[in-house]
Amino acid sequence: MLRKVDFGDYDLVITFFTLQEGKITAIAKSAKKSTKRFAGILELFSVLNVVYSTGRRKGLPVLQEATLKYPFSSIRTSMLKTAYASYWAQLINEWMESGQKQVEIYELFQYMLRKLDSCQTSEAALSILFQMKFITLSGLAPNLGQCSVCHIEVEKLKETRVQFDFAKGGILCDGCASKTSRKTFLSKGIIKQLLWIEKGDLVKAVRVRFSSDALKEGLEFLETFVPYHLGKEPRSLKFLQQIRKW
Ligand SMILES: [Zn+2]
Repeated sequence: MLRKVDFGDYDLVITFFTLQEGKITAIAKSAKKSTKRFAGILELFSVLNVVYSTGRRKGLPVLQEATLKYPFSSIRTSMLKTAYASYWAQLINEWMESGQKQVEIYELFQYMLRKLDSCQTSEAALSILFQMKFITLSGLAPNLGQCSVCHIEVEKLKETRVQFDFAKGGILCDGCASKTSRKTFLSKGIIKQLLWIEKGDLVKAVRVRFSSDALKEGLEFLETFVPYHLGKEPRSLKFLQQIRKW
């Protein structure tokens, strides 16, 4: 469940990210009024098996049945975990088109929610992983392997901090560095870790250990890069940044 909005006194409008049909928004009638109908299982970030009908007339599909598969309830008992999950859910909700199957992104999201729920990996590290994999699967991975202009490889650069140009979507060597466009600087250490995450599988990527500086650097970079491509700053990200204490 990605999103839940009240609709009148009785109903809920719910956006699901489904394995088979991608993003779907359905109306759950009487879900607010009757606890019997859906037995209180329509909670954000939970994984459900759902049955819905599209009907003949125009309008939202109607949720008929829902059974709980994974509650992921520890996420909702922590404000910080809820804030991270809300940010990831908003990225999916804003980026994905309705009705388009996205199996790899579905699996990524469910895997990340499971890790967030299990409390074994730091939330910040999981968010680096989620954003890096999400943007890569969306075909917008940052170019971190070589200078975006002259294509010299990052390992061959002498500088310890490398310029990243947001408009070009990649790193620039000192010789090609831009003076005008929006940019930041990344240490070679975090560049290597992000490249490793981009190319490695999820199970291995979850074992990557970040220093506290690298965590901060990686998050600051991705939380700028991802909204830059989205074309707006998600509200959930602002909230996350307000409650997160470094
Ligand atoms: Zn260059």
